[in-house]
Amino acid sequence: MSGLASRLYRSLRLRSYRAPPVTIPALRASASLSITTAAATAALVSMAAYTSTVSKPPATAASVPEGVDLTAHHVKGCHGHTVRFKNPYPSSGVERAVYEVMPMLLWGTLTGSMPVPSTKDVKMPMVQPAFLPTRGSSGGALRATWLGHACYHVEFPSGMRVLFDPVFESRCGPLHMVGPKRFSPVPLAPADLPPVDAVVISHSHYDHLSHASVVDIAKRNPDTHFFVGLGLAKWFHACGISNVTELDWWEDADLVLTKKKPDTTKPTGGNGDEEDKEPATITARLTCLPAQHASGRTARDKNTTLWASWAISSGGKSVWFGGDTGYRTVPKLPTDVDDYGPDYDALPKCPQFKQIGQLRGPFDLGLIPIGAYSPRWMWSSLHASPRDAVEIFKDTNCRKAMGIHWGTWVLTSEEVEEPPVLLKLALRECGIPETGVFDVCALGETREF
Ligand SMILES: [Zn+2]
Repeated sequence: MSGLASRLYRSLRLRSYRAPPVTIPALRASASLSITTAAATAALVSMAAYTSTVSKPPATAASVPEGVDLTAHHVKGCHGHTVRFKNPYPSSGVERAVYEVMPMLLWGTLTGSMPVPSTKDVKMPMVQPAFLPTRGSSGGALRATWLGHACYHVEFPSGMRVLFDPVFESRCGPLHMVGPKRFSPVPLAPADLPPVDAVVISHSHYDHLSHASVVDIAKRNPDTHFFVGLGLAKWFHACGISNVTELDWWEDADLVLTKKKPDTTKPTGGNGDEEDKEPATITARLTCLPAQHASGRTARDKNTTLWASWAISSGGKSVWFGGDTGYRTVPKLPTDVDDYGPDYDALPKCPQFKQIGQLRGPFDLGLIPIGAYSPRWMWSSLHASPRDAVEIFKDTNCRKAMGIHWGTWVLTSEEVEEPPVLLKLALRECGIPETGVFDVCALGETREF
């Protein structure tokens, strides 16, 4: 979601819209269940410090899709250099310029065809996040904790901790006072995060990349390494962050974490025995992969940095992070028409998710966007609906998934509690169990995979 469009939405909150209420009993049930779990978990015991090194292995025939132009998403300038990026498949529809989008949003808001949903009575379930006390205590499980919107904290069985799209501020926008304001609180302060080894960024939009958050994380974790799409390293360097690797779609990076020798001149403040049990080295493979989206933080940098999804594997478990993506572009239809009906079977779907599943799958966990989709004719090219998300889940060959990109900021017109309701309907339509396969959870809740 572009910050510019979001700001317009909020500033143009001219009418109060309230659609019929939706109930999400499964969500409430899972939230109350995990409150007990979270409350019973001990605080962090100790953590050894690690240094990180990153290398890029060469591409092989088996690591990239066959017969595909791997630079089809690069737009070249007159000197042959890449100057911006584009979605290379018909599933993304025709790209709209900002000057086309703004009048559409304005008209939609004024006429009520793109209402701003109320968050007045919305109370998202939330639990206190609980993390493993040490890197050596996962017991082989992959642990994933939702920190709101697209931000997930993942603890791999190897001991590695990865943070995806961290944004901890109240508003997502270029200024503290401008941009959508959270309607649900942040589950924790950045100071309460355990040490972070890697931060993975899907793209530059404000609801996924926050200057204040990344600077804070880098300050608290001087050895953490940031992984971004092409063109975005420059922005990090300008923030004073040098531990950054930028990759193109289908490029891999190998991360090696090496335990530092303890500084015997300082009191540890922790438990030396526990630190001894933490591994001497931790390895991970991170792959930048396609998504169907856009990028930009100002009126002048639209699509000049690459948007991406990511695959990360470490310690025998793997995650696919969808970030922010569309799946196919839907025309303007009456609201009672199902865009997955037989009349719309021929609408092109983004083929890249199947390629991801075939070449990097299966994944133990997919973190897949399910929100910011309405109206479909406006947002379908950029944002998956819950039904699209289930198709993406199948294509990418994820064994389990959690819904992201909802429940935090009002970005589009659907009621804010609607995505999990439609997700269940979509799962049912696709013959997949409604719970236990592709779920949502409470803010701050941890699930194991
Ligand atoms: Zn976005």
